[in-house]
Amino acid sequence: MIGSGPAGYSAAIYGARAGLEPALISGLEVGGQLTTTTDVENWPGGADGLQGSDLVTQMREHAQRTGTVLLNDVIVSADLSQRPFKLVGNTGTYLADSVIIATGASAKFLGLPSETAFKGRGVSACATCDGFFFKDRNVVVVGGGNSALEEALYLSNIVSHVTIVHRRDHFTAEQVLQDRVQALVDKGNVDVIWDHEVSEVMGDAGEVSQLRLRGTQSGDEQIIATDAMFVAIGHDPNTRLFKDDLKTESGYLVTEGGKSGQATQTSVPGVFAAGDVADPVYRQAVTSAASGAMAALDAERFLTWEAQAIAA
Ligand code: FAD
Ligand code: NAP
Repeated sequence: MIGSGPAGYSAAIYGARAGLEPALISGLEVGGQLTTTTDVENWPGGADGLQGSDLVTQMREHAQRTGTVLLNDVIVSADLSQRPFKLVGNTGTYLADSVIIATGASAKFLGLPSETAFKGRGVSACATCDGFFFKDRNVVVVGGGNSALEEALYLSNIVSHVTIVHRRDHFTAEQVLQDRVQALVDKGNVDVIWDHEVSEVMGDAGEVSQLRLRGTQSGDEQIIATDAMFVAIGHDPNTRLFKDDLKTESGYLVTEGGKSGQATQTSVPGVFAAGDVADPVYRQAVTSAASGAMAALDAERFLTWEAQAIAA
């Protein structure tokens, strides 16, 4: 398994129980995207409240208890063109009869040079990591999906005021999040600037102090004061390492899908993909965990078929 999010851990648990002797390579973000959030309210069984980090810590302990070898390494190159598959990490080289790719996705940024210049000095893609640095100050959140609204809600408990800048005239987040944000707008803790995008990040003494906004409909320009910009505009799948060997579509790994088994099979037999790395649509913790389980079952079937074919 490459990746330590819900998909990787779930694949590890199923793989170990199937006797596959799995090893899981954690990557830089141990626990994956859920470590960047607080409350996870839609994990079945979590009615009493679950924190993202606690949930993935439990998954890690569960995977370890089933006998999975947990390796703290980052894969830097992969050769999936021949068996055994070869994965080269920063600290080791790994050979595998089957690989489950569960490398998830990484936060997108706007791509402005001025944004890059202020990264870590007021520009962030993780409110739970960096929100505290802006206690009692004013911040902007960019985006209109679930992540943006969750970031805004989280920040509203720490900072003095949150402005959401969204390039459309409506949000695409779940209704329950929209209702919570609206309640804060009514109270005056949050406001929304619709139909605008950030065109420049500006600063004073190396720290963010203003944003230049451009109207997406009107083309007008305005400058707003802020102490930080939290970008929450989605994620890109982590597939760069595999693009020479595996089929991708819009950056996501392509899997077989369908109802006849081997649904998580990529374009190379024996290489499976699970979670956000192969999912442009659902991208939830529970769907990632589910596809991790499917990938382990697919890998087990693949290796069993292969062993039987060799024996015959
Ligand atoms: P990820 O969680 O992205 O994990 C990917 C793993 O791959 C990481 O461990 C990383 O270190 C590893 N990796 C990447 N590249 C390499 C490499 N080269 N070598 C080794 N390892 C590598 N979903 C919900 O269902 N409920 C929520 O409440 C919820 N809240 C969210 C809040 C935020 C702020 C965000 C960003 C997402 C949220 N999601 C939520 C979505 C959910 O987190 C993802 O769908 C889920 O984490 C995807 O799991 P994954 O295992 O596919 O990948
Ligand atoms: P998302 O749903 O893809 O939304 C991205 C948002 O950013 C959209 O509002 C989009 O606007 C905007 N955007 C994209 N590119 C932009 C740009 N260059 N400039 C300005 N705005 C831009 O991404 P997400 O909110 O990160 O969610 C990703 C996945 O994780 C989803 O499947 C989501 O359901 C899941 N998730 C779930 C939860 C939860 O269950 N509570 C929480 C967080 C995330 P447009 O609409 O105009 O493209």
